[in-house]
Amino acid sequence: MMLINSCLSSIPMYAMGVFLFPDSIHKQFDRIRSRFYWAGLGDRKKYHMVNWGTMCMPKKFGGLGFTDTKIMNISLLAKWFLRLLGGQEGACFELLRSKYDSGGSYFGKRVQKGSYFWNSLMKFRMWYQKHCVFLVGDGRRVRFWEDIWVGDFPLRVSFAPLFDICADPGVLVYEARRNDWDVGFRRSLTQSETILWDNLHELCCSVSFKGGSDSIHWALDKSGYSVKSLYNWLSFHGVGDNDLKLVWKCVAPLKVRCFLWLAMRGRIQVGEQLGKKMWAGNPHCKLCHQIESVDHLLFQCPLSKFTWCFVRDSLNWLRCLEGISDIFSVLGGGLSSQQKINLLGVYAAVFWALWINRNDYVFNGVISVNVLNVPYRVTCFFDQEIGGSVKVQGLAPCSNPSVGQCRADKRAVRRAKLSSE
Ligand SMILES: [Zn+2]
Repeated sequence: MMLINSCLSSIPMYAMGVFLFPDSIHKQFDRIRSRFYWAGLGDRKKYHMVNWGTMCMPKKFGGLGFTDTKIMNISLLAKWFLRLLGGQEGACFELLRSKYDSGGSYFGKRVQKGSYFWNSLMKFRMWYQKHCVFLVGDGRRVRFWEDIWVGDFPLRVSFAPLFDICADPGVLVYEARRNDWDVGFRRSLTQSETILWDNLHELCCSVSFKGGSDSIHWALDKSGYSVKSLYNWLSFHGVGDNDLKLVWKCVAPLKVRCFLWLAMRGRIQVGEQLGKKMWAGNPHCKLCHQIESVDHLLFQCPLSKFTWCFVRDSLNWLRCLEGISDIFSVLGGGLSSQQKINLLGVYAAVFWALWINRNDYVFNGVISVNVLNVPYRVTCFFDQEIGGSVKVQGLAPCSNPSVGQCRADKRAVRRAKLSSE
């Protein structure tokens, strides 16, 4: 994960700042990174349990936060466009202005014949336009309806009924002002539209024109344009996933947190999940011969049930968890963030211990005769990763919010193990 973020995703950054890569190149990037994540350096084909698009989502939306190269490409190219609009000096910008700038708004220009670089900027300019706020100088580069120059939204949004009947959607502020804000409409206004027009006229008259060239401000970042601000906006996926986001804050090694993330998505490589990918192996649990689903392996297999009973008694919980959906209902039960993080640490420890134990008997044929083996692994995990104790809130959503304390009583487990042997 660290190698993908720091190396593979970073290699094309410089080139992406100058050229817009075709979709086929981005797909190739994704294929290489995805293959490396799931299969490492080996040549053997491995199953990809989660699609790459989900893994590229930011962590706060439930992904792994890998760089989405296509969005990054657009965000890096935006820098050129905004510097050009902002009047940046330099031979490169002078060349572009002299070649392509024929006056008027950059956002309103038709895409004409030009270099691949220029056409790339023009192709995605609508993403930049949404967040450019103009400080009007003389209004020669600002579109009256489409650009944000008065208020927080374009006038086409704030005064949509008037925009629908306007004669020229691309009219510049300079032209409108010169005609005493008479922007022209295709028909006479109704009573309600006349009231709206009076409001718009009053708003336009209140703007003070400082003269000189128009300047531009980036609305997503107070300190000016940043690639990060546009990247974050373009990769926004609506409502965040607070529970999956906290997975990355729990105290556990990165590989265990990744495993917990996979388990909470129900995508670990158990028989049932592999069967969906046309795996030809036996999808049954080797221990109890039931179908090996994620819920079965982590909660319903007799060994898992015993482990959860051990955890329940250690933490004074009222009941055991019975499936992945139980995890989300517990986390959604009004706990504080720290309590959720502690609980996730417990889940990570149990899941990892069960997974290691399962892999021992699936791949190495090692079936432990001692049922305390998994609880012992759980307590060792706490000893090594959390320092022996962790405070967590009562488990059941309907339970009293009593605070239990999990002590990794390794000596007791060791005594029990010795006596059983
Ligand atoms: Zn089983």
